[in-house]
Amino acid sequence: MSIALRLAALRAQIPAGVTLVAVSKAQPASAIREAYAAGQREFGENYAQEFRAKADLLSDLEDLRWHFIGALQTNKVKLIAGRVAYVHTVDRPELARELSRRLLARGERARVFVEVNVGGESSKEGCAPDEAVGLSEAVRALPALDLVGLMCIPPAGADPRPHFRLLRGLRDRLGLAELSMGMSGDYRQAIEEGATFVRIGTALFGPRPPSGG
Ligand SMILES: *Cc1c(COP(=O)(O)O)cnc(C)c1O
Repeated sequence: MSIALRLAALRAQIPAGVTLVAVSKAQPASAIREAYAAGQREFGENYAQEFRAKADLLSDLEDLRWHFIGALQTNKVKLIAGRVAYVHTVDRPELARELSRRLLARGERARVFVEVNVGGESSKEGCAPDEAVGLSEAVRALPALDLVGLMCIPPAGADPRPHFRLLRGLRDRLGLAELSMGMSGDYRQAIEEGATFVRIGTALFGPRPPSGG
């Protein structure tokens, strides 16, 4: 099935008010062009260098909006600051401070999500649920960041709903508008649990090509 057909099928399942972020990591720039030609404008990337290379190749697509959704080392912030509209993966104060500092120097802003490690997995990024309020307050105090919501990736192989509900409860406590949750395997449940941004890769682009190949 073509990207345009898969996009149409996804759109039919995603209610108005929920933003579809097309996750294009490991996909070539040509696949992004195909989705763009079919009307998609929001794209998510995970790796700072890969993002930069593709953003340069696609700089003619002026209203394309980039979302950074990957683990972000503080020393890579300079590669994305001012070039992404959203960062979904702010999970520590140093990262937030560096992002704000780099944006401020460029006279730019970014919308950000605080990423919460809802399953308490040692292998995952994200702040602990009991750190989310403090980190959100720190982010709100930074001049170049607009905190819009919370993001999570639930543990694989378990029912995602309790994790989505935990994130929603935290989001409500913080009085924030947005919830970035749901991927190819669980976006339906995420939408039912209140997602306002879903991040979908393989269900749109097909399987990711092996890296390095
Ligand atoms: C890769 C990735 C996605 C998309 O995953 P699919 O299962 O391909 O839809 C969403 N969010 C994050 C943070 C990712 O790294």
